[in-house]
Amino acid sequence: MKRILVTGGAGFIGSHLCERLLREGNSVICLDNFLTGRKENISHLMEHKLFDLIEHDIIYPYHIEPVDEIYHLACPASPVHYQHDPIKTMKISVMGSYNVLGMAKRHGSRILLASTSEIYGDPLVHPQPEQYWGNVNTVGPRSCYDEGKRCAETLFMDYHRQEKVRIKIVRIFNTYGPGMLPDDGRVISNFILQALQNQDITIYGDGSQTRSFQYIDDLIEGLLKMMQTDEGFTGPVNIGNPREFTIRELAERIITLSGASSKLVYMPLPVDDPKQRRPDITLAREMLDWEPAIRLDEGLTRMISFFRKKLKKETIEANVNPLS
Ligand code: NAD
Ligand code: UDP
Repeated sequence: MKRILVTGGAGFIGSHLCERLLREGNSVICLDNFLTGRKENISHLMEHKLFDLIEHDIIYPYHIEPVDEIYHLACPASPVHYQHDPIKTMKISVMGSYNVLGMAKRHGSRILLASTSEIYGDPLVHPQPEQYWGNVNTVGPRSCYDEGKRCAETLFMDYHRQEKVRIKIVRIFNTYGPGMLPDDGRVISNFILQALQNQDITIYGDGSQTRSFQYIDDLIEGLLKMMQTDEGFTGPVNIGNPREFTIRELAERIITLSGASSKLVYMPLPVDDPKQRRPDITLAREMLDWEPAIRLDEGLTRMISFFRKKLKKETIEANVNPLS
C-alpha cells in the first residue's frame, strides 16, 4: 500500500483519481482549498478509512508526513475560472509547484505534474508532438495559465536536474466526464446542459476551431501508467485522444445524441482561442503502452446521462425546497 498525495483532489480530475487510487488499495490524502473543486465530488470518499482531506491553499507551504507519490493537480483549469483571478492563477502554478516540489525533495517522493496542451498555445505545428515548443502569447488573457504551466514544467525539470527529484510531466489534452461542474464553463458541459434544456448552443467564433476530447477514464489510466514508468523517464508526455473535431461538429453530435431541439448561435471568439489542437501520442504509446479506448459518442452518451440525472435532481430539489 502506498501513501499518495493528490493536490486538487476535490476537482473534476482529482476526484476521479482519488477514487481510483483508493480502489487500488492505496492510502490517499486529498489537499484542496475548494477554489474550483466541490465537497460533493469527494463526499462518497469521506467515510473511507484510507482517505484524508486537508483543506489548504497550496500557494502556502505545507508539511505532511512522508508520502510515496504526489499527483500535483491543484490549479483552476477552465478558461472562465483561471481568467477570473489571473494573478492568483499564476501564483498557484508557480508557488504551488514550488511548494509541492519541496515536499517531494524532503520525502524522496515521486511527483507528477498535471501540465496541459496549452503549453503549445495556438500551435503552428499540427498535430502537436512533445518536441514542439509552442506558440504562446505572454501578455494575453490566457497567459496566466499557459505561462504559469510552462513555468511549472521548468521548475519540475530544474528540481529534477539540480535536486534529483523524481518527476513526471504529463501534458493533458481536453478532458471531459461525469463530475464536471455545471458552471465549469468548458465546452462539453456547456453544450450538454444547453441541449438538455433545449436552449441555444453557444458556439464561440464560427465553430471551425478544433479540439480533441478524451474521456476521464482514459486520462486516469494514462496518469497511473506515467507514474509507474522507469525513473529515467520524466516526460513531458502528451495524454489525449487524437480524434479531432470542430466545435461545430461537437455541437451537432451533442444535439443528435441528446435528442435536443436546440439551435446553434454564434458568439465572439475569445482572445487567443487556439484554432486547432490534436495530440501526437506516439510517445505515450511507446513508453506507457497507453492509448485512449473510449470513443467520443460513447463518452458523450455517459456525460449526457450524468447531467440529465443531475438536472432532474435539481428540479426535484427546487420543487421541494420552497415547501420546506
Ligand atoms: P478543476 O478546476 O476541476 O480542479 C482543480 C482543483 O484544484 C479544484 O479542486 C480546486 O479547488 C483545486 N485548487 C485550485 N487552486 C488551489 C490551491 N491554490 N490550493 C489547493 N487546491 C487548489 O480542474 P480539472 O479539470 O480537474 O484539472 C485538474 C488539473 O489538470 C489542473 O492542474 C489542470 O491544469 C490540468 N488539466 C486539465 C485539463 C482538462 O481538460 N480538464 C486539461 C489540461 C490540464
Ligand atoms: N467554446 C464554445 N462555446 C462554449 C464554450 C467553449 O464554442 O460555450 C469553444 C471555445 O471557444 C474553444 C473550445 O470551445 O474554442 C474549447 O473551449 P474550452 O473552454 O472547453 O477549452 P479550451 O480548449 O479552450 O481550454
